[in-house]
Amino acid sequence: MEGRSGGMGEGRGREAGGGAEQELEPEPESEPAVAVEAVMSVQVVSAAADAKVPEVELKDLSPSEAQPQLALSTAAVSAMAPAAGGGDPEAPAPAGERPPAPGPGSGPAAAALSPAAGKVPQASAMKRSDPHHQHQRHRDGGEALVSPDGTVTEAPRTVKKIQFADQKQEFNKRPTKIGRRSLSRSISQSSTDSYSSAASYTDSSDDETSPRDKQQKNSKGSGDFCVKNIKQAEFGRREIEIAEQEMPALMALRKRAQGEKPLAGAKIVGCTHITAQTAVLMETLGALGAQCRWAACNIYSTLNEVAAALAESGFPVFAWKGESEDDFWWCIDRCVNVEGWQPNMILDDGGDLTHWIYKKYPNMFKKIKGIVEESVTGVHRLYQLSKAGKLCVPAMNVNDSVTKQKFDNLYCCRESILDGLKRTTDMMFGGKQVVVCGYGEVGKGCCAALKAMGSIVYVTEIDPICALQACMDGFRLVKLNEVIRQVDIVITCTGNKNVVTREHLDRMKNSCIVCNMGHSNTEIDVASLRTPELTWERVRSQVDHVIWPDGKRIVLLAEGRLLNLSCSTVPTFVLSITATTQALALIELYNAPEGRYKQDVYLLPKKMDEYVASLHLPTFDAHLTELTDEQAKYLGLNKNGPFKPNYYRY
Ligand code: NAD
Repeated sequence: MEGRSGGMGEGRGREAGGGAEQELEPEPESEPAVAVEAVMSVQVVSAAADAKVPEVELKDLSPSEAQPQLALSTAAVSAMAPAAGGGDPEAPAPAGERPPAPGPGSGPAAAALSPAAGKVPQASAMKRSDPHHQHQRHRDGGEALVSPDGTVTEAPRTVKKIQFADQKQEFNKRPTKIGRRSLSRSISQSSTDSYSSAASYTDSSDDETSPRDKQQKNSKGSGDFCVKNIKQAEFGRREIEIAEQEMPALMALRKRAQGEKPLAGAKIVGCTHITAQTAVLMETLGALGAQCRWAACNIYSTLNEVAAALAESGFPVFAWKGESEDDFWWCIDRCVNVEGWQPNMILDDGGDLTHWIYKKYPNMFKKIKGIVEESVTGVHRLYQLSKAGKLCVPAMNVNDSVTKQKFDNLYCCRESILDGLKRTTDMMFGGKQVVVCGYGEVGKGCCAALKAMGSIVYVTEIDPICALQACMDGFRLVKLNEVIRQVDIVITCTGNKNVVTREHLDRMKNSCIVCNMGHSNTEIDVASLRTPELTWERVRSQVDHVIWPDGKRIVLLAEGRLLNLSCSTVPTFVLSITATTQALALIELYNAPEGRYKQDVYLLPKKMDEYVASLHLPTFDAHLTELTDEQAKYLGLNKNGPFKPNYYRY
């Protein structure tokens, strides 16, 4: 058992991976064919890559040193035409740079995505009104006076309490969410905490009956779903329509797939956040020909009305906000364990679905063509499986795509950090002292937003390169200890654990706000605050005051979980980029000819990253410059890309 703890889920590797291994022994390693053809007509043929992730060989496709023989086929180039804004999008690349290019890029799917299929909608022209913003919150008054050394000299505020079910919780009296039949495996962090989707504001308090105990049918008489309340479908449909306006690339893919369907025959089982944005992805996959069954990867994040809308339109969805752990696995099982239906593709966010299939239905991997995984955690598990030789199908690591990392992590956080802080605390940012721990993509986004609002921003870093970046971007690089007594806000963004310790928390000044934008709920040592001498007071949803015996209180947001997931929405447009990457990864794996991908973890080819970006450019009425033949020759590039080597850092 020990040797396998690196498998799917902790301590379940032997049972899971072992069974699967017996059924499907990985093929012997050989140099990958490394020809990748997205059915969206992106064709890539290049040499094997040697990019590495820690301890696991990562087979990336198309390093530029090998001077990749890359070309976009007609349809893909035409897809980019609106963005290119001029020139002849179908101009052929120099003959010598064209790949031999067999396969789906020139096949039926490419035809389905023909240039005639229409233009990318100009999402920027459409306005949305966000119903989430109708949620008004009240504020209690009163402040304790704190001397410069942090000592409280006056009694703290009297709280006008707002009624929350879990108000005034003691550290040892917190309600548990575990449901009826508890399974041995603990729910993964990602299932309770993930950053890749919007927070849910669904009100689930109206009906306490478990959806599992309800008999519901949609208007067509189907009962193959389990959602909170099918009657919310109409409201959910409006949410989906709003999201569609900010997801131009998926809508473009739908239009282009009106003819032949690149996912015809695909049976995709998915486990992601169930939000309006996911609904747009699912309905796009459906439009591309796939059948989908879906569960939630997070017990809190399902938008009940969206789940209802999907169920109403015929998607077997098994999810609701506030699932117990037992419900969580039950929902996943209902997606997988179906008579007469077996998945042949997996789309996972966190690795729980993949784990479940490994554990319970390893034989299914005989028919599964690939796994697309979005989360850090899930990808990590896949690499562990691969390293142990237990991965029995190819997998795409979407998390490390440029179009995920450089957009989701940076821009999503830049846009949502202020939203999360504002909704929970109503604070003003100008002149406030903030320390941001970690100056990676997430930290950079947070710092930029706060600086723009006039906050005084300090940064902590362990890496001299990121530290130097912070300095040159105009931030003071400090150790946390140096500023902990004076700052108004502490934000963690490191992906690390115990970055903010009890010692730090003890030294913070009264009313200091503490929150996390990084990895799960490990960055702030919240457990150390659950001691008898400290009192927890729930003052709002997702806002706890932790009160010291002398009256000092800190404001802990979302109990140290990801602030933006828990307390704000995240921008749909950014999710559109990630969702498009997921869709292309599914199409690529599903259509790849036998042998193109081994039982290993792959990055999406850069060509496809570029394609995802190009599909989003029309929103901004952006005009891409085209290389001249002379320039392309000078730079040694194909005019149609990829335009950067794999090692390029953007
Ligand atoms: P990153 O690796 O680019 O940045 C993390 C930075 O933290 C690194 O520069 C690292 O040197 C630094 N660091 C590590 N330990 C530290 C410590 N003890 N003190 C100070 N600095 C330290 O990663 P990223 O892309 O910025 O992501 C950070 C975390 O945020 C990850 O866990 C990621 O999963 C999560 N994430 C959150 C969101 C969100 O919406 N909230 C979005 C994407 C990623």
